[in-house]
Amino acid sequence: MESKSIALDGPAGAGKSTLAKKAAKHFGLIYVDTGALYRCVGLYAILKKAASVDSLAIASLLPKIEIEMKYDEHGTQHMFLCGADVTEDIRLPEVSKFASDVSAMPPVREFLLSTQRDMAVKYDVIMDGRDIGTVVLPNAGLKIFITADEKTRAKRRYDELIEKGIETTFFEVLNDMKIRDKNDSERAIAPLKISDDAVLLDTTQLDFEQSFEALCKLIGNRLELEMV
Ligand code: C5P
Repeated sequence: MESKSIALDGPAGAGKSTLAKKAAKHFGLIYVDTGALYRCVGLYAILKKAASVDSLAIASLLPKIEIEMKYDEHGTQHMFLCGADVTEDIRLPEVSKFASDVSAMPPVREFLLSTQRDMAVKYDVIMDGRDIGTVVLPNAGLKIFITADEKTRAKRRYDELIEKGIETTFFEVLNDMKIRDKNDSERAIAPLKISDDAVLLDTTQLDFEQSFEALCKLIGNRLELEMV
């Protein structure tokens, strides 16, 4: 039921996914990473050699795209694109750029909307993205907008990529992030913005454990309210 769902929005590198994953385990919720859906569309476009900004070409690919989200016994989300496990491939920096470009196209957003809403009908979810509180789950029981300043977010993302063995530089990551933030915030459809009824959580000055504690407090208060 949507009212039991938690919507978590915010810009790239704010720590949404790592925090949401841990919070999902803590509160027994299903974590849904909606960025992974846009990344699957982006990856498909790359594989089909479509330009990321060619909206006609991208729209013509949509009927051929089959995306499945599956969860393993640890509650980890795996992404399947036309039957192939692409969980790792969709994290490559090139896919981030394609995902951001295709996410500004109305047919792509429409194509992915029901998959996201169906998840909130089936499960109590903590769902992260850019427009979850504003568009996907407008009746979510709790809406949180997580952010941090640009350099902090870029540093976190850079460390993550280096840890995965992906070669990059801090400035490359910062630059990609600036472009993505601009695309996501300025697009005409479902732009990244804080919902009027969302709580703002700025993690610039917080380490991971402090951010997690702040998030748990917000969710805990909400769940307690629900029980009275
Ligand atoms: O969250 P992540 O960085 O994996 O998302 C990849 C891209 O997908 C984002 O830059 C954004 O453009 C797009 N996205 C979106 N709406 C969502 C989730 C992601 O537009 N709900």
